[in-house]
Amino acid sequence: MFTIDDGFYDHHDVAARVFDEFGFPLNFFVITGLLDQQLWPWDDQVSYALNHSRSEPTDIRLPSGTVYSVNLEVNSAKATVKEIREALKAGPQTEIYQWLREELFGKLGVDFPSSTPPEYRPMSWSDAKSLRERGHGVYPHTRTHRILSTLNPAEKREEIVGSLKRVEEELGYTPQVFAYPTGRPADYDSGDVNELGQAGFNMAFNTVPAYVRQGQDRYQLPRFSLPENTADFVQIVNRFEALKEKLRS
Ligand SMILES: [Zn+2]
Repeated sequence: MFTIDDGFYDHHDVAARVFDEFGFPLNFFVITGLLDQQLWPWDDQVSYALNHSRSEPTDIRLPSGTVYSVNLEVNSAKATVKEIREALKAGPQTEIYQWLREELFGKLGVDFPSSTPPEYRPMSWSDAKSLRERGHGVYPHTRTHRILSTLNPAEKREEIVGSLKRVEEELGYTPQVFAYPTGRPADYDSGDVNELGQAGFNMAFNTVPAYVRQGQDRYQLPRFSLPENTADFVQIVNRFEALKEKLRS
């Protein structure tokens, strides 16, 4: 099966059209706060800020208290984005959106956009409805995309149950499938798995690149990300990668 996370407009306008053309269902995991136009994802805000910043070196204080030095002459914007995102994933993320606006955008001298930049526009709920009518799946992917393992129990519940409720209200059905934001095993914990079970979900996807095997924990289903080139893609979908794994072991 094919999945695509977050819920940007081009997932509906472009990706779904291609999958429709080949009669193949695509499964969308949507950040409900994005579709509700309350926010655009924190990880994309990090790239936007770095890609629009001046090049003078500056020190930023991460939410953890650690100081990180930005110097785009020495370290590329791409590498800096990666490092800041990695550091932010370790949390805490309770106040991440406020931190981005005040500390990151502030220190980098970048104006915080008054509306969502066009490249991070969401699909609409009516787009999501149309996807379901065309045979695709639409499921929750939290409300704000914050890393669940960095949040307290009440915040975890708000992310999981809150996003479930929004999908229910907008699409008129109860989703039972979920995907963790960024999805590394460190990005969620047993508290999240319990919360998913209590909320009525019966499976969840992470982003560990592997095949689903018999006996797999249904709240930790792995997924390969789309490779850069077609040859790698073909090797994954025809399970040639599984054969290589077997030969190596
Ligand atoms: Zn995501």
